[in-house]
Amino acid sequence: MLLRALWMSLDPYMRGRMSDAKSYADPVPVGGVMTCASVCRVQESNLDGYAKGDLVMSFTAGWQDYSVSDGAMVFKLDPNMQNPSQALGVLGMPGFTGYMGLMDIGRPKKGETVVVAAATGPVGTVVGQVAKLQGCRVVGIAGGAEKCAYAVDELGFDACLDHKQNNLNDELAKACPDGIDVYFENVGGKVFDAVMPLLNAHARVPVCGLIAQYNATEAPSGPDRMPQLMRLLLSQRIRMQGFIIFDNYGPHFPEFLRVMTPWVAEGKVRVREDQVEGLENAPQAFMGLLEGKNFGKLVVKIADK
Ligand code: NDP
Repeated sequence: MLLRALWMSLDPYMRGRMSDAKSYADPVPVGGVMTCASVCRVQESNLDGYAKGDLVMSFTAGWQDYSVSDGAMVFKLDPNMQNPSQALGVLGMPGFTGYMGLMDIGRPKKGETVVVAAATGPVGTVVGQVAKLQGCRVVGIAGGAEKCAYAVDELGFDACLDHKQNNLNDELAKACPDGIDVYFENVGGKVFDAVMPLLNAHARVPVCGLIAQYNATEAPSGPDRMPQLMRLLLSQRIRMQGFIIFDNYGPHFPEFLRVMTPWVAEGKVRVREDQVEGLENAPQAFMGLLEGKNFGKLVVKIADK
């Protein structure tokens, strides 16, 4: 079938596909089509089960206006979906990542303190708001006063700290008077340094992403914190677990949609998108994502219908 891309998603993992360093996925070869998830309209179909006009999600369409698909890695979307671009964010891979990482590895309990960075992005917003729905104290970390105000005023976080301020360590300690029970790791770097001393006994740390390192070409300067971390993991019996959402959570996707769709519809989970117009603007927007220039889930609008 021939697919017309309407929306494409820009996500931090794409940085890893532009490097041949060892990773969980093969890089995109030089001259290859850059990978992405897209919401597409079927233009023509010779495939059983798909008809012209169907709305689908494709994981193989790539950064292109049109693509030809044999149906692999394509999923039908509800044709009446109000905001199809949400299939790339809160109701798609990033939302699913935040939800599963928090619930399966973070296992938040009422009254516990949950900390999440990249707090206003699609993963962080879901982590924080779902943790609030579980009755937790939620502290976000984000880049800049505007994002922090949004996390508190609109998303209902208990506090949000600007990681660009110099006194992050002290501010985080003040915002987490009972320590940290769940740290949802999205960024690494100096944010993790600030979190480490505050982790409580039996804390859980879902390691979802390390965006502060994605552009690094050499080891960071400063002391080696590995011995400190190992000692902490042991003495505090901390569970720290990396996960890649595509690995083994697939069967839980319908369950996730059943829970998240009404939460979004009822406004219990609020959504913010950063929409960029035009495929030609995708590279610049992607570079901005790695510097925190996006405010909300970054999507590129390619066509209307
Ligand atoms: P976002 O839309 O939140 O974009 C990334 C954000 O990271 C930026 O907006 C910026 O926010 C923050 N950031 C960038 N550089 C730095 C830095 N040096 N230090 C601190 N923060 C920085 O991204 P997503 O919500 O899509 O993804 C969040 C994380 O989850 C990423 O690490 C991503 O790789 C990971 N991920 C992992 C998956 C998995 O299966 N394990 C699946 C999906 C995502 P700010 O301005 O607030 O700092």
